[in-house]
Amino acid sequence: MNAALRKLFSFNGGVKPQTHKAESTRTPIVPLPLPPVFVVPLHQSVGGTPIPLVKPGQKVLKGERIGAADGNYSAAIHAPTSGTVVAVEPRTMAHTSGLSMLSVVIEPDGDDQWLATEKFPFQSAAPDEVRDYLRDAGIVGLGGAVFPSHMKLKPGKATPMKTLVINGAECEPFITCDDMLMRERPAEILRGICIMRELLQAEEAVVGIEDNKPEAIASMQTAAATMPYVQVVAVPTRYPAGGAKQLIRVLTGIEVPHGQRSTDYGVQCFNVGTAYAIHEAIELGRPLISRIVTVAGHVDTPRNYEVRFGTPMDFLVQQAGLKTGCDGFVMGGPMMGFRMPAFDVPVVKATNCVIAATPALFPPPPPEMPCIRCGECARACPTDLQPFEMYWHSRAKNFGKAQEYSLFDCIECGCCAYVCPSNIPLVDYYRFAKTEIWARERQMEAADSARQRFEARNERIEREKREKAEKLAARAAATRATAQADAGSAPSADGADDAKKALIAAAIERAKAQKPATAEAPAVADASTQD
Ligand code: SF4
Ligand code: SF4
Repeated sequence: MNAALRKLFSFNGGVKPQTHKAESTRTPIVPLPLPPVFVVPLHQSVGGTPIPLVKPGQKVLKGERIGAADGNYSAAIHAPTSGTVVAVEPRTMAHTSGLSMLSVVIEPDGDDQWLATEKFPFQSAAPDEVRDYLRDAGIVGLGGAVFPSHMKLKPGKATPMKTLVINGAECEPFITCDDMLMRERPAEILRGICIMRELLQAEEAVVGIEDNKPEAIASMQTAAATMPYVQVVAVPTRYPAGGAKQLIRVLTGIEVPHGQRSTDYGVQCFNVGTAYAIHEAIELGRPLISRIVTVAGHVDTPRNYEVRFGTPMDFLVQQAGLKTGCDGFVMGGPMMGFRMPAFDVPVVKATNCVIAATPALFPPPPPEMPCIRCGECARACPTDLQPFEMYWHSRAKNFGKAQEYSLFDCIECGCCAYVCPSNIPLVDYYRFAKTEIWARERQMEAADSARQRFEARNERIEREKREKAEKLAARAAATRATAQADAGSAPSADGADDAKKALIAAAIERAKAQKPATAEAPAVADASTQD
């Protein structure tokens, strides 16, 4: 479709850092060889942690499900190759926290044998069946957010879906995995886009690609030439044009307000890698077991690899020729990426890039100085926030106030810190504040849940007491009723009592009469048997 007709808009703020993209786009994507071991974390997406389906000693095939989605807000996990499960245990996560996560450790058998796969009958299946299938195929957003895709592939309820935005902007320095995917596999991406458009019932699909990727734009435009509902559009290169709200603004002119979703405005956004993964799942029956990863930084040959999830990062980076002097790996780009806690953490669904870092490439930050309230951070912020206000309140641990300044609308793009003349690591403060708020929310939830459990326990004890008392009363009533029945013709309770009293009095009199010769107790017993 002719892209020249589309009017483009711009977003506020943003920066233009050095891109460092040319180095890793000189050679085509290559598949990474099998590593000696895979460590596949079960939790690789937003939502519930998948439930392990395998045990140590079990043989698995490539593509076999090893973790089942925990409810609908989750996505399954699959074996990256055929081999033997040697452990299901906590291993260090690919996260700056260094925390551990339950992982399936698989020793490859070298055969790399697929589980039998077949095309999913997309055209005849109900939309919910397609979404369930995508959940069980482990499809999540590959732009970095790793949100389960099936949850987003629903037509609008209140607002009909108008535009499916496909994010090929890839604005972060060093990262070129989407660029190379669009250059080499445009037809497959477009087939995925068609599936998504149908599920969303969107009128159109628009692919936005930064104009510093002319090869990718040409490749995608050629492949989309016969597709009337798909536009491939070059957007100006300015970080963070690849932020979902920023790209939506550029391509549609819609400004999604703070606290609202693009779907409220008839727009949904996915990454090009996700479109490719959906094509693989639906048309080839292949679950998500790998992705394209850029290896850059202190290596001989920066390039892109097709990497299976669970591959240790050091194995991956060594394939590109890791040079001496590397002091750590950064997952993602220099603006939004995280330094990894160890060299051998596994590649996961969120891993779009691994940068071999050196002190020269990532020098220690200059000393932090006081904020001079220059307002540069606010001018650079692409989400129109007040970064210095959020900084003040986060630093003072006044988290409620930080939230009032829309802390959770901050996309952690780093533009504010990039321009700050006082070298304040602003994003670190925002991440700290968010983590504290989440921790407090978790504590409050835990306290609420403990209180509810305590109240439920007290209620249960009271109920049991009540039930016991009722049972005793019922038993006593039954005994009385039996006694009455045994008493025979007594017309009333009062009459029965009188008769009993008379019998007892007579017995006592008899006992008195016999007192010198017999004991009292047998006399009463006699009284009871003489009737
Ligand atoms: S750019 Fe830095 S110094 Fe200037 S107002 Fe923002 S935080 Fe303060
Ligand atoms: S990191 Fe947050 S506050 Fe800073 S520029 Fe980006 S969106 Fe704005």
